[in-house]
Amino acid sequence: MPDNQAPQQRRGSASLRSASRTPLVAANWKMHKTVAETEEFLDRFLGSLGELEGVELVICPPATALAAAAERTRRSPVRIAAQNVHEADSGAFTGEIAIPMLRELGVAGAIVGHSERRALFCETDEALARKVPALLGAGLLPFLCVGETEDQREAGETEAVLKRQIEADLADVDASRLADVVIAYEPIWAIGTGRTATPEQAQEAIAFIRGLLAARDAGAAAASRIVYGGSVKPDNAGELFEQPDIDGGLVGGASLNVDDFVAICEAATLGEI
Ligand code: PEP
Repeated sequence: MPDNQAPQQRRGSASLRSASRTPLVAANWKMHKTVAETEEFLDRFLGSLGELEGVELVICPPATALAAAAERTRRSPVRIAAQNVHEADSGAFTGEIAIPMLRELGVAGAIVGHSERRALFCETDEALARKVPALLGAGLLPFLCVGETEDQREAGETEAVLKRQIEADLADVDASRLADVVIAYEPIWAIGTGRTATPEQAQEAIAFIRGLLAARDAGAAAASRIVYGGSVKPDNAGELFEQPDIDGGLVGGASLNVDDFVAICEAATLGEI
């Protein structure tokens, strides 16, 4: 199995950020970068990583660049994940991509439930409840995105929204596999807007999510990586990642630039105890 196919995670019993949870930073490129641009980015990125240790790095390019990205990173610690996946192994689902197709490319996981896919492409909690266990069953890493809209936050509904999403999307994940899901808290009002949640807002929401996991299994809650996404930049990554429950980031716009993304990845190593 190539290096970039096996999600690794240190397990432990600490309830706050600690050596029991390896920080993780993932780049969500959305519909950006051709194959040539992907290869150029990865060559520069891999060359810039230097001695960077203690952080897991994941790049999520568009589907057309997955094969090239997996090939380019095969002998590196960087892993490649898709931005969406269908839960069926095959079938009449025009335009969709199945898990065995991702595995064949050496892809290590997939983002599911991104707010853009929920809002623009009708991805439902019911579908997510099938996708997450399907990924886990195939040995791939699910990146489950959850988060509230601005209206929901202003109405005081943030926790209710997060509870509804987490309970529905992870309903069919056995407690023994909960810690194998990476959860990304992405307040929708902060995605692509330049408006970052304050470290306190992000910490509060992520601690709440960890509490939801703890209600099912305390050990899984302590071991689960929960990252923050929403206008993470080099100049705010440090203060976000040093929060005790924030285990890294899912980065959109700033991950398209090698220097910015390297700076964000470096910030994730600094908070590790
Ligand atoms: C995202 O789309 O997952 C995201 C976090 O985007 P941005 O960093 O651009 O807000």
